[in-house]
Amino acid sequence: MTDLNGLIVFVETFGCQMNESDSERIAGLLVAAGARLTDRPEDSQVTIVNTCAVRGKSEEKLFSYLGRLRSLKKKTGLRIVLAGCVAQLHRDRILDRNPEVDFILGPDNYHLLPELLERRLGRPRVFTAWSKDWREDERRLSLRRSPVSAFVTVMEGCDNFCAYCIVPFTRGREKFRPLRTVLDEVRILAGQGYKEIQFLGQNVNSYRDPDTGAVFPDLLRAADEIDGLEWIRFITSHPKNFGPELAEAMARSRHVCRQIHLPLQSGSSAVLERMKRSYSREEYLEKTRVLRSLLPGICLSTDIIVGFPGETESEFSETLGALDEIRFANIFSFRYSPRPHTSAAKLKDDVPFGVKRRRLMDVQQAQKAIQTRIHEGFIGRTIRVLCQGKSKKDGRVFSGRSEGYQVVNFRSEADVIGRFVQVRITSCGPYSLRGELAESP
Ligand code: SF4
Repeated sequence: MTDLNGLIVFVETFGCQMNESDSERIAGLLVAAGARLTDRPEDSQVTIVNTCAVRGKSEEKLFSYLGRLRSLKKKTGLRIVLAGCVAQLHRDRILDRNPEVDFILGPDNYHLLPELLERRLGRPRVFTAWSKDWREDERRLSLRRSPVSAFVTVMEGCDNFCAYCIVPFTRGREKFRPLRTVLDEVRILAGQGYKEIQFLGQNVNSYRDPDTGAVFPDLLRAADEIDGLEWIRFITSHPKNFGPELAEAMARSRHVCRQIHLPLQSGSSAVLERMKRSYSREEYLEKTRVLRSLLPGICLSTDIIVGFPGETESEFSETLGALDEIRFANIFSFRYSPRPHTSAAKLKDDVPFGVKRRRLMDVQQAQKAIQTRIHEGFIGRTIRVLCQGKSKKDGRVFSGRSEGYQVVNFRSEADVIGRFVQVRITSCGPYSLRGELAESP
């Protein structure tokens, strides 16, 4: 039995919800093995940096963060563990250039951490093997940051090899969690008072239960029956795996939110083909029509990449046109940057940086105007909000999310964190709604 005997650990997270969820898992594993958590690297004996490699920019941030830890290590002697996708991808570079890093752990190796830290092993220090099988054992230990909303991972990895994406090289091929253990975890969370769960996976709607072959709509239907749970969300869906059965399962459910993140990436069919996305602009538009007819009022969000190799002005203007036509509630937009091992990295990165920057600004300005108009439509309406926490600036201002995942800020004298409240929307900006409680909590 591993005993970390009060070892003080800090966990830093770079990246998406999947990384946040992995950090909760790492923290849970270590605390179960006797470690204590701190919220500052300065106070830690071990700092674990859980990393994301999807964009070049997040990697740059990470390497500058490692520079800060190097100085800290000289003063305090802390040990540094680099975990996650950058560890998997750049292990050789890190071994050469970052001697301050004690251990390098790819995403399939977190379960080794307690033993590594207990035994203070010097060598080997790199663990990046992939397993084809789902590892279940330590997931129930996750130390969740939110007392309200919980991530539940249902699959990992990706088989799609989109031309620009590094995920299949950092997370490996798809593997699926057994349905019965997913549902057991959801039941436990509902019993603990969690109001919302978010099913996670790189390609969540390709889910297939390894025991029974049940598919993602089956999972949603089963989770929908669990008592105590109010809202169910899922991220990220691939449009090619999004069919009418999933839309119908959403429409018939009582608890699946009328909200979906469905990455479009480009509004041009020619660019989508070069990106190897397996759907055209028209097919994507048709999916949004089906969703809106079955789920009126559903909020759609998406990812957009600008400046993919060969993207012409006219192809880019198709992306602006798609934003206008679909009217997403939110988008995450990025400049293309080549990632190692991907097929797009072999293409000439021929859209000049200045053009990419201008296209990104155009996309963001267009979306800002769309969101402002959507938010203005909420003014005067009363909506249900799940309160997630308080504003950092004003202790009487609370913040929550609507069913459509909009941020809603409102004042309350009573503490309403973790509760559903009715909020009358009084004003808005492009990125959030503001309102007042429509009833006393
Ligand atoms: S579907 Fe494409 S973009 Fe999404 S994780 Fe897989 S390879 Fe990456």
